[in-house]
Amino acid sequence: MSIRSEMPWPCMNCGTVNHAQVWHAVNVAQDPRIARKVQDGSLFRAVCRSCGFQAGLDYPIHYHDPARRSYCLYHQLGQALAPEDQPDLQDIAGKVGPEYRLRRVYDLDSLMELSRVWRDGLDDAAILALRLLLEAQVESHRGARPLALRFDHLEVDVDALEYVLVMEESAPAESMTVPAVFYRNVFPRLEAHRERLFPTGRWVEWTRETARQALMAG
Ligand SMILES: [Zn+2]
Repeated sequence: MSIRSEMPWPCMNCGTVNHAQVWHAVNVAQDPRIARKVQDGSLFRAVCRSCGFQAGLDYPIHYHDPARRSYCLYHQLGQALAPEDQPDLQDIAGKVGPEYRLRRVYDLDSLMELSRVWRDGLDDAAILALRLLLEAQVESHRGARPLALRFDHLEVDVDALEYVLVMEESAPAESMTVPAVFYRNVFPRLEAHRERLFPTGRWVEWTRETARQALMAG
């Protein structure tokens, strides 16, 4: 079930109080249009009706993709949660069943990236580990660690994964093409520890730390 409410947001530029629709829960099967807005990030952008100022919205959200048997809970670490957002993790796990991928993320970029990974039918454990490997590769080529590197979409025709790369705050986003063989090569490294680090039916933190453990273990 999808759940939404209205949230007032005062414009930082002109002070007008706008109202944004806030989706506390998005069910991909019931609301594919809203799911696409999670995937492209537009759900979390708002425009002031008076002055056109653009603001980012950031709030806890449950993202449920029943067809992919996948469920993600996003909230910022340490964020105070309203009762309707209070995660009853065991309750959710019990309701959806033991074969589900259950993921927790703590930043919106991770939620959006994960939703695109599921949309394109990819393995989120492999994508998570691959990000660390790609970041190291970018660093060795350019002499600096990227500020952000996120999976964007699968290019089936050319068997490649498209990424969005941001090197620094002031630099424009670049697209980066990664041959899908890079993705497939991650699988053998994950196999031995997949059950422990990415068990189905249990909550897994889809974070850099989990990726690091997966690669160290492999
Ligand atoms: Zn305004």
